[in-house]
Amino acid sequence: MAEASTTIDLTRLSLSHGEGRRVELPVRLEPLELGGQSYAVVPPEVEALLDVSRHSSGYAFRLRFPLRIEGPCMRCLADAELQTEVDAREVSQEGTEDEELRSPYVADDELDLGRWAHDAAVLAIPTQFLCRPDCAGLCPVCGESLNDADPAEHEHSSSPDPRWAKLSQLKLDE
Ligand SMILES: [Zn+2]
Ligand SMILES: [Zn+2]
Repeated sequence: MAEASTTIDLTRLSLSHGEGRRVELPVRLEPLELGGQSYAVVPPEVEALLDVSRHSSGYAFRLRFPLRIEGPCMRCLADAELQTEVDAREVSQEGTEDEELRSPYVADDELDLGRWAHDAAVLAIPTQFLCRPDCAGLCPVCGESLNDADPAEHEHSSSPDPRWAKLSQLKLDE
């Protein structure tokens, strides 16, 4: 099966200068790869809202869609989820040498909406993807999640590494 890609033929919108059009359409998103982890988009098909407006020298775009992603918490590896709204903008000026004014998603009057939506979704993932803002992470000694443990009860009285035991012995001798 061919890779589903969503492109918009801008000429078919037949917009005159100064005109705009709002398009609603489904966009399918692949799982998002970030820092070696895969984050599933749930559901993978999002209902996107695309605003296109034509100016004398090109196009301006605004893309919005609700995004829900699921993946492992970066601290404790438990299942985590995030719900957010993606809101991205692009401009595409025709015949300009200015990189800032040329959209990487527009070529030959076609907008590569699928690729733009994917990139915008990646940017919407926070750098700290956590199961909860105050996730306590994993115990550095036993690797157990400290979120489920009562900190008062979760203690390692004797260190399992004999080298550390020796170190504390030295301290006692002083
Ligand atoms: Zn966590
Ligand atoms: Zn522990």
